[in-house]
Amino acid sequence: MAKKYMYFFGAGTAEGNKEMKDLLGGKGANLAEMAGIGLPVPPGFTISTEVCTLFAKSGGKIPPAVEKEIMTNLRKLERASGQEFGDEANPLLVSVRSGAKFSMPGMMDTILNLGLNERTLEGLARKSGNRRFALDCYRRLIHMFSDVVMGVPKKKFEEILKSWKEKMGFQFDHEIPALVMEKIIADYKKLIKKETGQDFPQDVMIQLRQAISAVFESWNNPRAVTYRREYHIPDDLGTAVSVQMMVFGNVGENSATGVGFTRDPATGKKEIYGEYLFNAQGEDVVAGIRTPSPLRKLETEMPGVFKQLKETTTRLEKHYGDVQDFEFTIQEGKLYMLQTRNGKRTGPAAIKIAVDLVEEGLIRKEEALLKVEPQALDQLLHPIFDPEEKKKHILLAKGLAASPGAASGQMVFTANDAVAWKKEGKDVILVRDETSPDDIHGMSAAQGILTGTGGMTSHAAVVSRQMGKPAIVGCCDILLSEEKKTLTADGRTLREGDWISIDGATGEVLADRIKTRPSEILQVINGEKKAADSKMYQYFTKFLSWADKVRRLRVRANSDTPPDARVAYAFGAEGIGLARTEHMFFGKDRLPIIKEMILSEKEEDRRRILSRLLPFQRQDFYEFFKEMHGHPVTIRTIDPPLHEFLPKREDLMVELTELRAKKSKDKKKIEELEKLLERVRALSEFNPMLGHRGCRLGISYPEIIEMQTEAIFEAACQVAKEGNKVFPEIMVPLVGSAAELANQKVIIKRVAEEVLAKHKVKLAYTIGTMIEIPRAAITADEIAEEAEFFSFGTNDLTQTTYGISRDDGVKFINYYLLKGIWKDDPFSTIDIPGVGELMRMAVEKGRKTRPNLKVGICGVHGGEPRSVVFCHQLGLNYVSCSAYQIPIARLAAAQIVIQEKQGKKTDGD
Ligand code: PEP
Ligand code: MG
Repeated sequence: MAKKYMYFFGAGTAEGNKEMKDLLGGKGANLAEMAGIGLPVPPGFTISTEVCTLFAKSGGKIPPAVEKEIMTNLRKLERASGQEFGDEANPLLVSVRSGAKFSMPGMMDTILNLGLNERTLEGLARKSGNRRFALDCYRRLIHMFSDVVMGVPKKKFEEILKSWKEKMGFQFDHEIPALVMEKIIADYKKLIKKETGQDFPQDVMIQLRQAISAVFESWNNPRAVTYRREYHIPDDLGTAVSVQMMVFGNVGENSATGVGFTRDPATGKKEIYGEYLFNAQGEDVVAGIRTPSPLRKLETEMPGVFKQLKETTTRLEKHYGDVQDFEFTIQEGKLYMLQTRNGKRTGPAAIKIAVDLVEEGLIRKEEALLKVEPQALDQLLHPIFDPEEKKKHILLAKGLAASPGAASGQMVFTANDAVAWKKEGKDVILVRDETSPDDIHGMSAAQGILTGTGGMTSHAAVVSRQMGKPAIVGCCDILLSEEKKTLTADGRTLREGDWISIDGATGEVLADRIKTRPSEILQVINGEKKAADSKMYQYFTKFLSWADKVRRLRVRANSDTPPDARVAYAFGAEGIGLARTEHMFFGKDRLPIIKEMILSEKEEDRRRILSRLLPFQRQDFYEFFKEMHGHPVTIRTIDPPLHEFLPKREDLMVELTELRAKKSKDKKKIEELEKLLERVRALSEFNPMLGHRGCRLGISYPEIIEMQTEAIFEAACQVAKEGNKVFPEIMVPLVGSAAELANQKVIIKRVAEEVLAKHKVKLAYTIGTMIEIPRAAITADEIAEEAEFFSFGTNDLTQTTYGISRDDGVKFINYYLLKGIWKDDPFSTIDIPGVGELMRMAVEKGRKTRPNLKVGICGVHGGEPRSVVFCHQLGLNYVSCSAYQIPIARLAAAQIVIQEKQGKKTDGD
């Protein structure tokens, strides 16, 4: 049997159905489904996505076999509609619409009213008894066809229309009478001739063939390609094309066209929601020329049709088990459904709808869990911009969306200014080329952070996420002068104190202040609002409690301070997967001590100074343990190179030069600075990321590890003595060989046992390692002899596997993505074939040595849904991520379990 490329629908039957999105695209599959269940759908046929691929392969030609099938289906459509394509007396008009498996709104092309020419136009005018209507259809066809197929810019048609309206004093298109319409059409035709040297095609079969070809071609237009990159849609899926009998919302005042949702997509409220326009066609509703009326109004204007629309869409919602986003046309009082699909919705609406649908008995809990994009949960936690307000502001630049949330503030360019301005009660956005640990206090004071450089794992990005602060990093579109305190973007220069707004969910930097809405969930977590008073909080916790029952992966938090840990616990953290101890050194009271320690050259001096740091660390660890209520707490020994704790060499040189130039008498100060500069020089490295850091520091300066271990176990003993459970896990960073870990383990074990003996406390603890350089993964069997657990540091593992600096990569990775060389940034989502393969090897080898080896991940990927799925598939025990990503990871971990049960991945909408 010949291969089938086309699927007919209409008159109560359909060859396709809603499960056939791969072949028919979302639109085609749902048209078939609606026709199949007997809804009023104009008949038509869908040309499958396979033809899109064939079309591209045959150099942009419709293959003969397909052409033949088009003709067969066209004849069938003529019979179903009782009209004939190209017939002068009774012309059939069709729409040609694109529709891929995943919806790509507005990215590809559509043409309406095909089949009109000078002769059929007259036929339509006679048949409808409405010449103005027929001319309106013809005008629209010429406009759309010439833009999509013949490449005449649509703006030029709009200009002609506008100038006629102005000349004749009409405000709206539907006021234009037939006589003027004819003049407009004549001008359109002249324009086409002038622009292309050709006439608008009068042969209706040429119109149809060219329209189908243009829709297939639109799969590869730059807009569509960019959209696919952004939403991870494969390029080889192709679009389907639906050819469907036209129905007309522009026949007169008892006709209309509209769009709607079965529930409010912004809030999830259960009420039909949408807009329509009388005497209009397709794109008019969204084009914004006339203000459409809310659907509620249809209830009074056309009560019978409204009732039918409500019944139809309620039936569709039940049938699909989800909120529907639909399009309809009313032709002379008769309702037609033109599209339905699962409606896109905001995060808060998604949760409410999912829970409501379960409680209304429409779907099961597991189905509800699949209905919410994990990433959408973010919107429930961060303040967001009022979408209407956002539209009113100028977009200045776009950077990497590093930490979601919306923030408006006055620009400041130094961390100290951020703190000072904040003290005066001002909201600030901290703008820096990049941030360093020295900026923590400023980041903490700011509403949001914007940096000109750095990637998704840069300091600014990691710390902002940890803090739950909106951040945009690597914003190459802006030019910063930290010295002059100016930011230049989009041709304008803004100064310190000017207001900007950043949307950390999209990477958009906007001018001025934009109103935000606070997250209710956070208010409850912070104790500012009672759970009983927040419906949203109740929905959120109920929904996630369903996820917790399903998932296998545990979810922990990356937390550096006890307050972080408290928030993480409230979000459902089942322990801490990474406490970066060095971040605890940055407090005002601690930094001078660590600086002094680094500057001292003798071990005994260092030990003395470290003993002053110990009480701070002990107190932090004590609070961590308490906040985690007996869940495991993984504390990592010192990791970054020591010079990160010291001032920058250039700054010291400037300060010294200035003092000398002023002939300062402060000899002591000059000597101090000289000594500091000498030490900074001695510690400086060409490539600090690959230098003296991680366990290499612990090997050179064992006294630091001793102090940290002592602090950990002193704190643990105190918690245990108070009768509470405690479970420390000590983690050694940047290990590449078993011997390195063995060295550190001896120190940690010795000190731990000494402290436990001193306090006469018995408690379980483990010592493990990060797996973050390839050699560690490759020799994981040997390392597992020493390590009681592994945790993948995928930030460093990605950096070292690719040989790309995690901070400098941002400068070129974007080119890779734009050119399609890479589909994803490996610093955002795990590179499965490369980094992922090393992880697989490490898990296998590690568990060969130690079958019950606990394995987790604490790189930034630990909270990214696709990476969470991969971690589940690798058989990890847990993922660890920033507090705000915990709900996302909980949901992603549950979804993969359900999908595995179903034996397939779900298809989007
Ligand atoms: C990592 O490398 O993935 C990691 C968690 O450690 P850090 O980002 O602190 O280097
Ligand atoms: Mg690391």
